[in-house]
Amino acid sequence: MTKVTVAKGDGIGPEIMDATLEIILAAGAKIEIEEIEVGEKVYLAGNTSGISNESWDIIRRNKIFLKAPITTPQGGGYKSLNVTTRKFLGLYSNVRPCMSLHPFVETKHPVMDIVIVRENEEDLYAGIEHQQTDEVVQCLKLISRPGCEKIVRYAFEYAKQQNRKKVTCFTKDNIMKQTDGLFHQVFDEIAQEYPEIENEHWIIDIGAAKMADTPEAFDVIVMPNLYGDVLSDVAAQITGSVGLAGSANIGEECAMFEAIHGSAPRRAGQNVANPSGLLQGAIMMLNHIGQTDVAEKVQNAWLKTLEDGIHTYDIFKEGTSNQKVGTKEFAQAVIANLGYKPSKLKSVSYANSSALNLPKYIRKPAAKKELVGVDLFVHWAGTNPNELAEKLKKIELDGIQLSMITNRGIKVWPDGFNETFCTDHWRCRFKPTESTTITKIDIYQLLKNAIDQDIDTIKTENLYSFNGKAAYSLGQGQ
Ligand code: NAD
Repeated sequence: MTKVTVAKGDGIGPEIMDATLEIILAAGAKIEIEEIEVGEKVYLAGNTSGISNESWDIIRRNKIFLKAPITTPQGGGYKSLNVTTRKFLGLYSNVRPCMSLHPFVETKHPVMDIVIVRENEEDLYAGIEHQQTDEVVQCLKLISRPGCEKIVRYAFEYAKQQNRKKVTCFTKDNIMKQTDGLFHQVFDEIAQEYPEIENEHWIIDIGAAKMADTPEAFDVIVMPNLYGDVLSDVAAQITGSVGLAGSANIGEECAMFEAIHGSAPRRAGQNVANPSGLLQGAIMMLNHIGQTDVAEKVQNAWLKTLEDGIHTYDIFKEGTSNQKVGTKEFAQAVIANLGYKPSKLKSVSYANSSALNLPKYIRKPAAKKELVGVDLFVHWAGTNPNELAEKLKKIELDGIQLSMITNRGIKVWPDGFNETFCTDHWRCRFKPTESTTITKIDIYQLLKNAIDQDIDTIKTENLYSFNGKAAYSLGQGQ
């Protein structure tokens, strides 16, 4: 018996959760359910995180969490419980299988069976944002080596376990050479450890276009958080309905399983929602806790039900479907099919699923890190970069000089173009001349001189080299 925390959520949540639990219990799932309340009611009672401390205790104790979608109330101050849960519990891997059920569910892509493995904790979802000038706000994109290693290894281990042939990586490292560059580099390193699995990398824009056009060319796709968030919805939707896909959020200690869609409030309370997405999440949960026989039984019964043409409204199509049913009737049909396999769709077998080999991250020895310059970010409402350069030259130190000014990344001094549009946010790079070095005391002195010259410095970024290699971006056009 495995203890599982269950949250029935909001909108269609309670209906699809009841249907899901009924099916898996009828199939013989050996689980003990501990229910908690999260979401709208908790938010509206004044708890801006949408969950109480007692509920956290239960989730952390049971470690396995099956969650229906929740409604995040509109308006300021409410934190997304999904993002918080993933990050608090270290659920670094978000696995989203998206498979066509042609010809039983209408889709433009009859041959599609892909799994998106989305990094779940970092990237722009660190949520670190600041307004720095009247005109400019920033969001920090954080990508870490442990984050990349864990998610890429997860993708390859998953591919190996599921007998999949290829892992593709999507990034935009032609532009973001440091952040997406690290993700790509770690992908190339870890791919070497799995010679039996094909690997490839696509720039995300053309990769995404190809995925939406010829999904049959892909198998497992691993990507950073934001790209994975967007593309997994695209992938689920093009199989026929976003209501068909489930997702597993896996961490080293805990795991959370859910549908990929939201609480669809307009459909709530009408017994119409498709419980398949949450059921797929529950099947992944059963596999995760080792009840593979039950998972297999449920999945085959579900496939057979869809094959029989018993469809909820979202996938019902005159001519293809046989019977339009509600949430409860769909669940009853799946239960009636327990023990049966689909005859045309491929049935599944999870019997020999081996465990994933996911060693703990081991920190590498520290590299030789050297300070080689500094970027001062300045709020200045002028328009002519030459004028700003004149002001900045007054704060230079002996042997430490202004080397470049950029605006939104593009070099505007020296030798800028008049045509370049400039905001009030300037990156001003100071570097030592060849015969000198720079220290943090020098940065402090530069900042002090800037105050004396009435220059509004809003932040600094130190420029480092690691093992002799420059580890910062050049100005565009430099
Ligand atoms: P949604 O996914 O809830 O619904 C979009 C549309 O998809 C619905 O109107 C419906 O037509 C269809 N749909 C979704 N699930 C379906 C199902 N099971 N069966 C049949 N049709 C289905 O997206 P939304 O309307 O943008 O969001 C509604 C709420 O859900 C928001 O408050 C949002 O914050 C929340 N949300 C929660 C989660 C989560 O808890 N994991 C995820 C996404 C959105």
